[in-house]
Amino acid sequence: MSDFCQIQDWKLFSGSGRPYVIAGPCSVESRESLVSEALCLKKIGINVLRGGLWKPRTHPGSFEGVGEEGAGWLREAGAAAGMRTATEVANARHLDVILKNGIDAVWIGARTSGNPFLVQEIAEALRGTGLPVFVKNPLVPDPELWTGAIERFARSGLKYICAVHRGFHSYGETIFRNPPFWQIPVELRRRLPGLPLLCDPSHITGRRDLVEDIARQALILGFDGLMIEVHPDPDKALSDAAQQITPEALQGVLGRLRMRSSSTSDAEATAAIDDLRTGIDRIDAALIDLLAERMNISESIGRIKERSGLTVLQTGRWNTVLEKVRAMAKEKNLDEDFISEIYTTIHRASMERQLGK
Ligand code: PEP
Ligand code: MN
Repeated sequence: MSDFCQIQDWKLFSGSGRPYVIAGPCSVESRESLVSEALCLKKIGINVLRGGLWKPRTHPGSFEGVGEEGAGWLREAGAAAGMRTATEVANARHLDVILKNGIDAVWIGARTSGNPFLVQEIAEALRGTGLPVFVKNPLVPDPELWTGAIERFARSGLKYICAVHRGFHSYGETIFRNPPFWQIPVELRRRLPGLPLLCDPSHITGRRDLVEDIARQALILGFDGLMIEVHPDPDKALSDAAQQITPEALQGVLGRLRMRSSSTSDAEATAAIDDLRTGIDRIDAALIDLLAERMNISESIGRIKERSGLTVLQTGRWNTVLEKVRAMAKEKNLDEDFISEIYTTIHRASMERQLGK
């Protein structure tokens, strides 16, 4: 599955500079507001207009989108501003409407990309159309499910496929609407190195004041571009009001963002990085040696526990270890939760060794 078309060769973005940006309202609301927003976006250099027609809402009775009628408005707004257009499809019937109305690209929403039945249905319906498809990550942080959806589109012969990181559903306290577990898109890129990758900071944050920071982080990490929700009067938006920004705000954000590149011709920088990486490699080798030594000691302890009928799990000892390493981490200015996470993994492996797994 390495047959993806590089994003700089997508006709959809022709004329765009990096980062590649898709912008527009969460939902298409009216013909007039969409046309005037498209004209504003085009003026600030955006070439692809987004707008949801069918909105997957958590509660019934919320605004669920204007539906089929809006497809014509989307096409008209795109034509009026000289932009390409994109919308969400959640089944083959939606796709039919999109194809009839000459919409240029589709995205698969987070609630759909985790559903193999629907993904397969849409992938079949897209076969032979050559339409670009943006695959948002599923709600659950599972790289298999996300990769699986991408594979279905690739097997339908589509070449213009792009993944979109929009954060993951999470339970409990977080400042984000859908926290960005960056390790998941990082893993996706490792598996599918040729696959273009965008970030959707609007759905990650759910708050307009955090959008710029997440967009910046994504570009620093190496994402190719952004999908951002923009509305002329965000507070009055019929869906996702809190996360949408104005076209003027978008212009400000894009003006402040800088793209990085995955390689450099600066020989001095390359040599300095290589030199530092030798240090990292040396430390990694020492860490592995220490872990192996730790594991051997743990195995010896396991044998004594077995002989003397002691339980493998010794909660008191585990608490002491955790408290001690957290205190040491603090002293060295390391994030305590980071160290806890590492030690939880080490302790689990150590118990498994003592269980004889
Ligand atoms: C959207 O882009 O409007 C949307 C509903 O996105 P997601 O599927 O990421 O929630
Ligand atoms: Mn939205």
